[in-house]
Amino acid sequence: MPTTFVIIGAGQAGGWAAVTLRQSGFDGRILLIGEETWRPYERPPLSKAVLTADPEPSVLYFHPEARYAELGVELMLGVPAEAVDPDAHTLRMADGRVVTYDKLLLTTGGHARRLPVSGSDRALRLRTLEDARAIRARLGSARHVLCIGAGVIGLEIASAACARGCAVTVLEALPRAMGRAVSPEGAAFIAGLHRAAGVTLHFDVAVERLDAASDGGTVVTCSDGQTFAADLVVAGVGMQRNLTLAEAAGLALEGGIVVDEWGRTSAPDVFAAGDVAAFFHPLLGRRLRLESWRHAQNHGIAVARAMCGDAPPYDDLPWFWTDQHGVNLQVAGLPADAAHTIVREGGPPNGFVAVHLAEDGSVLGVTAANNPREIRAGQALIKSRKAPEIGKLADAAVPLQRLM
Ligand SMILES: Cc1cc2nc3c(=O)[nH]c(=O)nc-3n(C[C@H](O)[C@H](O)[C@H](O)COP(=O)(O)OP(=O)(O)OC[C@H]3O[C@@H](n4cnc5c(N)ncnc54)[C@H](O)[C@@H]3O)c2cc1C
Repeated sequence: MPTTFVIIGAGQAGGWAAVTLRQSGFDGRILLIGEETWRPYERPPLSKAVLTADPEPSVLYFHPEARYAELGVELMLGVPAEAVDPDAHTLRMADGRVVTYDKLLLTTGGHARRLPVSGSDRALRLRTLEDARAIRARLGSARHVLCIGAGVIGLEIASAACARGCAVTVLEALPRAMGRAVSPEGAAFIAGLHRAAGVTLHFDVAVERLDAASDGGTVVTCSDGQTFAADLVVAGVGMQRNLTLAEAAGLALEGGIVVDEWGRTSAPDVFAAGDVAAFFHPLLGRRLRLESWRHAQNHGIAVARAMCGDAPPYDDLPWFWTDQHGVNLQVAGLPADAAHTIVREGGPPNGFVAVHLAEDGSVLGVTAANNPREIRAGQALIKSRKAPEIGKLADAAVPLQRLM
């Protein structure tokens, strides 16, 4: 029997891990198991071009089918794994097949959280290609779209619906947009973009129920008695990690599967990576759970290398982007942990750069609109742990790169 490494979850982290295992010299059997019927594909276009472009763009796969064959990676798609037994080193598929592994990697990601209110099935959700296609089809005829949740996904759908000529309303339970992903200043910038595009935003409203309207649409009722009618309702109320397998297998969990800097879980020979993992970040000194493209890829690669016994600790900085109303916003580091935020004044119109500082003045995060150069420099500043001069930080005429 060849040594067998199994990956459960054929998403971004799993796809990159499978390829990396072989590239790192592992010459045994590699099995990539996924419940979706597609081989690993990009999700970011699902809330962007897949909703707006005509014709619908082709699916963006991470690797061509032939690449898996060439590397000898077996794909087992369209069937979920149902149970893992870490002591026996086996897993059971939903169709009854039993697979024995030497090392197992869990990259089960997450699914779109269901709104916990009556009538929530009337709201579409977005995580998979099928979800995006269902929303796209409905956007073709919708006049009024209501997005529940002003997180990244809800706001990207709002932006796409706006681009498709729909009247758009967003309802958010919190007092601001994009939760803890951006600072209050960043949230205000994003809200401004939406308002300028004609989107109506309501904050501090809790959705209580969804009902069928007489015209075939939906009426959304909030706890303060306000009602909103729409042809299409979409809920972007967060991602829930797929932890069922890990929980039943007795792995340590902290809102995600607890792993160390090498992706090792609390069970021997079981690893986890990507959105599903709660990993310890050596530079930032705490455990993180991220939901972002770069992390899914780099963590999948790093943990695959660790499974092959050759990897430094994973310390990639958090980074994500979002595209809304033609503006590309990028966030590096952890704005939510900052004690102070400095908005750099004097930049280009419709631009925005903010630097987020720790109590000691060191840079914890950078947020920038249409300015990838400042984000690149910002990441180097975060890693340097230096405290730049405040006056220069506040002046957009001084590139962040010069402050290093
Ligand atoms: C609509 C959308 C837009 C996004 N846009 C951006 C963006 O603009 N910028 C950015 O930085 N990030 C973005 N992201 C986030 C990024 O795409 C995710 O962080 C990334 O896809 C996570 O990859 P993953 O492999 O960890 O998990 P996933 O992509 O969730 O993949 C996990 C896979 O595991 C499968 N699985 C789960 N349980 C089982 C099981 N028991 N058996 C078999 N298979 C199983 C799932 O079906 C899924 O295919 C976006 C995400 C979405 C959904």
